[in-house]
Amino acid sequence: MTGLNADKENNENNENKETKIPETENTDIKNTNNKNNNEIKKITSFTVDHTKLVPGIYVSRRDGDVTTYDLRVKKPNGGDYLSDVELHTFEHMFATYIRNSDVGENVIYFGPMGCKTGFYLLTRGLENIAVLKYTVETLEKIISHDGEVFGASAAECGNYKLLDLDAAKSVAAEYLSSLRRAVSDFKYPS
Ligand SMILES: [Zn+2]
Repeated sequence: MTGLNADKENNENNENKETKIPETENTDIKNTNNKNNNEIKKITSFTVDHTKLVPGIYVSRRDGDVTTYDLRVKKPNGGDYLSDVELHTFEHMFATYIRNSDVGENVIYFGPMGCKTGFYLLTRGLENIAVLKYTVETLEKIISHDGEVFGASAAECGNYKLLDLDAAKSVAAEYLSSLRRAVSDFKYPS
């Protein structure tokens, strides 16, 4: 976890602990790297057929009471990807607005996908339909946002110059129109 969402937890975890980095010479870590590929498990998100995926909202996985939603903005491998400034500013805006909503306490994490085609939203204790409703409301708030980008300072962010409100607004508008185009059953296409 990174940035906006995990700071509090990290601080709490680090408070009373001194962390010692283990020696790496001639130890188990080296041996682990020698594992052949048969022993490497495919992670769940790699089992989704990305060639069939279109923009929308999907349940990516459930871990206990935590649900991970795939907020897919761009068609995978479609040649059109979110830019760094779009990913970054949308992350700031969406995370702040949804954490300030009525379901803020149910939000575990929000952050961008490394492949630059969407975002992951982790929640607890919410029905799919509620997650969709609050996602739509959050998009509307971003689109009508008037003022500074949230967290746009060197003290609050690791790359605060890489922020642009219009970039977040265009992502929000594009994703909102995708969500309105079709009724979601939250299931990945099979
Ligand atoms: Zn940032």
